[in-house]
Amino acid sequence: MRKYVIAGNWKMNMTPAQTKDLINQMKPLVADATCDVVLCVPYVDIAAAVEAANGSNIKIGAENIHWAQSGAFTGEISGEMLKAAGAQYVIIGHSERRQYFGETDDTVNARLKAAIASGLTPIVCVGETLEQREKNITVETVAMQTKIAFRDISADDAVNTIIAYEPVWAIGTGKTATDEQADEVNGAIRNVIKEIYGIDTAEKIVIQYGGSMNAKNAAGLLAKQHIDGGLIGGASLKAEDFSVIVKAAK
Ligand code: PEP
Repeated sequence: MRKYVIAGNWKMNMTPAQTKDLINQMKPLVADATCDVVLCVPYVDIAAAVEAANGSNIKIGAENIHWAQSGAFTGEISGEMLKAAGAQYVIIGHSERRQYFGETDDTVNARLKAAIASGLTPIVCVGETLEQREKNITVETVAMQTKIAFRDISADDAVNTIIAYEPVWAIGTGKTATDEQADEVNGAIRNVIKEIYGIDTAEKIVIQYGGSMNAKNAAGLLAKQHIDGGLIGGASLKAEDFSVIVKAAK
């Protein structure tokens, strides 16, 4: 049995003070969760988030990681720094990073290796653009992204990595993949993992769906065989909505 993981992605939102307020609102609402609850927050909010979440079932993550341990990389952040700040998870290869900041499948692979080396749980994002879906190359696209992301990663490390299927056309747009569309692609990703690592790893690895998941559509998506949780953008900034999604993951 795979355990559901519901992770928020706050993107470029919230000050440290707002972070404390929101987490304090969320804590009682998600206290009974049977899934893992994670909030990936901006770097400057990590310390405030860790402090606010202390003693609760909410774990804190970051939104990116650099592949080097240290050095002349102005504006970047290392795994050691994230760990020291109290982060336990990290998002890698989000489509906004791919679209606006030159992230490639190869840099995703490098960041994944750095996250594993630092002892962070990675959440690796893959997903097709609208153009790729319309050209009927969705499965090929996510298969290639997954294969390159996991290049030279051992089965032991892969099994502890989370994959988030996030169709680019569904992120922040209010358009959600149907339950069937999302499950089909999540299943295809699981098959790629099976090809690389075998059935055991494929059955254990957590594959989330992300893309306008909200309080209304979460239960349908999460009921699907291959959807083991969600990566939630907009709805993770609202305590009530986020808690409804968390409760649907059971
Ligand atoms: C995301 O940021 O990963 C995401 C899925 O955003 P949203 O839920 O707002 O579409």
